[in-house]
Amino acid sequence: MKILLPTSTAGSLPKPSWLAQPETLWSPWKLQDKELLEGKQDALRVSLQEQQQSGIDIVSDGEQTRQHFVTTFIEHLSGVDFEHRKTVKIRDRYDASVPTVVDKVSRPKPVFVEDAKFLRQQTDQVIKWALPGPMTMIDTLYDDHYKSREKLAWEFAKILNQEARELEAAGVDIIQFDEPAFNVFFDEVNDWGIACLERAIEGLKCETAVHICYGYGIKANTDWKKTLGSEWRQYEEVFPKLQQSNIDIISLECQNSRVPIELLELIRGKKVMVGAIDVATDTIETPEDVANTLRKALKFVDADKLYPCTNCGMAPLSRTVARGKLQALSAGAEIVRRELLSSAA
Ligand SMILES: [Zn+2]
Repeated sequence: MKILLPTSTAGSLPKPSWLAQPETLWSPWKLQDKELLEGKQDALRVSLQEQQQSGIDIVSDGEQTRQHFVTTFIEHLSGVDFEHRKTVKIRDRYDASVPTVVDKVSRPKPVFVEDAKFLRQQTDQVIKWALPGPMTMIDTLYDDHYKSREKLAWEFAKILNQEARELEAAGVDIIQFDEPAFNVFFDEVNDWGIACLERAIEGLKCETAVHICYGYGIKANTDWKKTLGSEWRQYEEVFPKLQQSNIDIISLECQNSRVPIELLELIRGKKVMVGAIDVATDTIETPEDVANTLRKALKFVDADKLYPCTNCGMAPLSRTVARGKLQALSAGAEIVRRELLSSAA
């Protein structure tokens, strides 16, 4: 990126009310068939325009074409039975009814590649596309075939690599893997989780990112966060190995989080998407709030490696709040950009 402190979002943005129920996570579509396809594309255009008008530098589809960041991908794979659902505990936190792996998993055809091509046609800006990470995928399923979390994760890593290579060919500049499971299953992350992620990015020339997080501002997550104590040191378990990995960019939620900012020292040398927007509140940050968070992060991240971002996705927020937060993010980044340029002059 030529621009200093390029802004982006961690992922999802609110959907228009004619496409899906607003302020609701994983809301079902309101349209069908051809109308749904057109509706998703129109929503993507609106979402892109809102990012552009808010001054966001690295833009995305705002996840307008997906219902869920993991299951929408899995729905396109063979070997998974969506009729026979089982209730499992997601990330050791909340029960969810999930599909069952009944046979060898494979990707009969590309999942998001047409959507990514459509986004590419709409803009010359740098674009980022999110995929689920292998470990988070296995945690959102019941496995009745491989009977091994690790084996299934390796299969998903291969499939993700096929998809990622085609996204790159479609013109995606940054491919991000969402791995919230990374701050729950530390031993597995270090044993094979990071290795699987590296398998998923094998051979890519575009930039790659991993988004680990404490989740959307939904009740199951806010209740869980209350049990984590005054300091959230979970990243400490996985950052040393991630620092050694081939992943280019790592995200960290810094606004209103209890993650000690000095944990950034553990990933020194990596690019960091610094979450300067809290997605669990309707209160819109001021540009100065954002600037303060970025200034703190600058003690541990070189300016040319700092990517101001949101803590997580904003799908459950109202469109007005999300827009306000995007504008605050760019305005805050601009304050710090000017400071850096004037001190360098
Ligand atoms: Zn997140």
